Amino acid sequence: MNKEKILVSACLLGFNTKYNGGNNYRESVIKLIEDYEVIPICPESLGGLKSPRVPSEIVDNKVLSKDGEDVTKYFIDGANKVLEIAKKNNVKKAILKSKSPSCGSGLVYDGTFSDTIVSGDGITTKLLKDNNIEIISID
Ligand code: SF4
Repeated sequence: MNKEKILVSACLLGFNTKYNGGNNYRESVIKLIEDYEVIPICPESLGGLKSPRVPSEIVDNKVLSKDGEDVTKYFIDGANKVLEIAKKNNVKKAILKSKSPSCGSGLVYDGTFSDTIVSGDGITTKLLKDNNIEIISID
């Protein structure tokens, strides 16, 4: 029988897609995905951003990089591509990295680049939730 497919933030699986060129590998995720067919996704890479890159945070309805560039378009493009992948593969669940302006769920950085957290969802997370995809958030 075919396994259910699940989206997973690529950085949690050890792909070096983070803004600083590193990853967020988590052993706990490997156990969670045992029974699934995994589709690694990085919305920011899919949106056209390179790694390493200048970090970005959500400010009001925009995403701004630390040096002030409006990078909203890349984040929206990436989110739309992730949703397309989810729909094509009949995905119902996603395991996403917490606090990220793309992948964060329930909590995100506040836009001051001071490690301050506020309520909110990342751009991709919000789109997936709006399309009834369950999010499992990993810190
Ligand atoms: Fe990881 Fe998501 Fe950031 Fe990509 S956008 S590096 S998958 S947290």
